[in-house]
Amino acid sequence: MKKVYNWQLKRSMDYPYEGKYPEKQFAAVFNINRCIACQTCTMACKSTWTFSKGQELMWWNNVETKPYGGYPQNWDIKILKLLKNAHTRQEKNMTWNNEDTYDGMTIFEAAEKEKTNNGQSRVLGYLPEDKEWTKPNIGEDVSPPNATKKDKMGYITDPIQLPEHKSFFFYLQRICNHCSYPACLAACPRKAIYKRDDDGVVLIDQERCRGYRKCVEACPYKKAMYNGQTKISEKCIACYPRLEGQDNHITPDGVPIETRCMSSCVGKIRLQGLVKMNSDGLWTTDEENPLYWMIQKEKVALPLYPQFGTEPNIFYIPPRWAPRAYLTQMFGPGVEQAIDRYTAPSRELMAILQLFRAQREVIFKYQIIKGPKVFEKEVTLSDGTKKSLNIYNDTVIGYNEKGKECVRTTVEEPMYERPKFHFNSI
Ligand code: SF4
Ligand code: SF4
Repeated sequence: MKKVYNWQLKRSMDYPYEGKYPEKQFAAVFNINRCIACQTCTMACKSTWTFSKGQELMWWNNVETKPYGGYPQNWDIKILKLLKNAHTRQEKNMTWNNEDTYDGMTIFEAAEKEKTNNGQSRVLGYLPEDKEWTKPNIGEDVSPPNATKKDKMGYITDPIQLPEHKSFFFYLQRICNHCSYPACLAACPRKAIYKRDDDGVVLIDQERCRGYRKCVEACPYKKAMYNGQTKISEKCIACYPRLEGQDNHITPDGVPIETRCMSSCVGKIRLQGLVKMNSDGLWTTDEENPLYWMIQKEKVALPLYPQFGTEPNIFYIPPRWAPRAYLTQMFGPGVEQAIDRYTAPSRELMAILQLFRAQREVIFKYQIIKGPKVFEKEVTLSDGTKKSLNIYNDTVIGYNEKGKECVRTTVEEPMYERPKFHFNSI
């Protein structure tokens, strides 16, 4: 094992290989608060990449209902349980300390400690059974049973009010995280998995793979999948031809375009980017990049299960109404702060939120032109205190890789009144 620094855990950790970081990293922010589970993203991905024989039950992008659902079924409960049991055996705690450093073991460290049972395993994981992959959103819209008081007729009697709902569910949008320390790559005995130097996209070399399924077993997010027809493994490829600007129809000037799942999102919940990285694996300070602002500066978007240790690169704005303890387990200790910052957004954040799905070119830089104050309201924060929310009708401009303006929009959505006589009037 080598030592690598994981900024999401705020400490170094053990990983089978030396850290190797791309110049730019594929990353995205998903705003859970806005998702309507329409599955347009899911179908955009499926109709592009997984419509062949052997891929019938393969959903590289899926949107599942939490806390009940999961694809494969109960994937997160199962890996959390394995990790918890390993901590119990090792007499350790799976906790974050006061400085927000993770004190527990990652899936790599737990496997190393427990090596006596399985000398070959580099990553703590499990192989789902075939039947667990059959439903991409089992238990859609089901909230946890017995979480709230019900009357004889089964109707919820507890009041539903913010900041937390007693009975809740939310949608979790999932793709491969193109992790900085991929568990799939660490586990592959054929060294068939690699992370690209230019954009950090994690790919499986289809020529080298022999279908041992070690990646399927190791990926804690279960985003490496086995194709029973070809007998090799496959996974999300981050639509790399679009990322490379290779599709002449949609990007004649060759600039990177967002993936199919991102650019088709009806709820406008996704913003994709390519963020600059230093040679030590930390993000280069770049406050003009909207992703840098949300993830590193404002810390309003958080990684999914950072305690696994893979340093995932898809980040989530947590849902405002779900219990904080559940969200903290899922997104780490920054949840309350992230929710409060989303509830009463800064001027910059409010402007950046308008860039979500405003167009499909990858935005490398944004700029704000200040406008007048248009709204004021008192909002309730996580601890019940009140804060004043001020909204300004600022204009936000996004620039593509070549520094060319690709989007210009305002905080207040423009309204257009259709003229009495228009081009298709009868
Ligand atoms: S397209 Fe967007 S809104 Fe619809 S399910 Fe996917 S992430 Fe959610
Ligand atoms: S999410 Fe899973 S498949 Fe994707 S890079 Fe991370 S470990 Fe590999």
